[in-house]
Amino acid sequence: MPVPSSTPDAVGLTSTVPVEILYAAGLKPVDLNNIFISSEAPEKLLTQAEREGFAHHVCAWIKGLYSVVMNQGIKTVVAVTGGDCSNTVALAEVLSHKGVRIIPFAYPLNKDRGFLQDQMEALRRGVSATWPDIEREKGRLDRIRDKLVDLDRLTYEQNVVSGFDNHLFLVSSSDFGSDPDAYEKKLDLFLSGARQRSTLSEEIRLGYVGVPPIFPGLYDYIEGLGGRVVFNEVQRQFSMPYHDVDIVEQYLHYTYPYEVKGRVADIRQAIAERGLDGVIHYTQTFCHRQIYDIILREELSVPVLTLEGDRPGRIDGRTAIRIETFVEMLRDRVLR
Ligand code: SF4
Repeated sequence: MPVPSSTPDAVGLTSTVPVEILYAAGLKPVDLNNIFISSEAPEKLLTQAEREGFAHHVCAWIKGLYSVVMNQGIKTVVAVTGGDCSNTVALAEVLSHKGVRIIPFAYPLNKDRGFLQDQMEALRRGVSATWPDIEREKGRLDRIRDKLVDLDRLTYEQNVVSGFDNHLFLVSSSDFGSDPDAYEKKLDLFLSGARQRSTLSEEIRLGYVGVPPIFPGLYDYIEGLGGRVVFNEVQRQFSMPYHDVDIVEQYLHYTYPYEVKGRVADIRQAIAERGLDGVIHYTQTFCHRQIYDIILREELSVPVLTLEGDRPGRIDGRTAIRIETFVEMLRDRVLR
């Protein structure tokens, strides 16, 4: 997706938040993660943050987010301080110290509806949006979310969409590329082209779970080995595919910020529904979410390959060999 230039109405996001509220306020949500990873030289953004004092052992995404805000002159950031990443709390304080306005937003670990409703109300007041405008924006974005469900079906049912294209559209739905109308046009064009395609032939069907990868070349590499990702767990969650009429329910349905059992149920459903042969669990170096690997390995019924990525760039040799061995092992099981 193109990198939007910073404008006075740009509001940076450290993670997925109810963007309906920001669009209703006439603002332009910018998912800082997407800007970081799609920038021309993400490695330089890390070096910049490290030069300014971020330690080597701080997750690369946090450092990338910091540099994006600084370089693009983003004046306001919605920081997800609960349900995402404890590092974000310190990042938000550093940004605030540098003069950036921080609007905190927290998801309740126990999915308490009243708590989430209060958070949404505080966000609404913080950006001066009205509920009727939020409902109007919800209608507009729901139409796009429905089309993303179609995209997902074309990936795992019709088998005409690659794992990378699925990833790219779904991961970008955290902010709809900062321009939902342009995003929808691009999606429409893509969907009409995809419907004309012939079926992809990869025989090993994979799920990708965990935070989005820091090396996007992963998908092409897997496809080169005869495998294809037909389920992108967290990216799909960003697209909120559940058709919830109520906006609070919609953000309670979103599995990522809450207890891992919701994620496990979602992944299990995908394994059954999409016929997954195996799952790749991606973990980010220095990320506390890596610990969930223990639960995922025990709770999922298919083989799990745990990968770890640190800095953006090409897949390293060791990771490449591990993926190749995993796909080969699955092929033996499938063809046995
Ligand atoms: S990958 Fe983990 S440590 Fe890094 S920003 Fe995301 S949640 Fe935080």
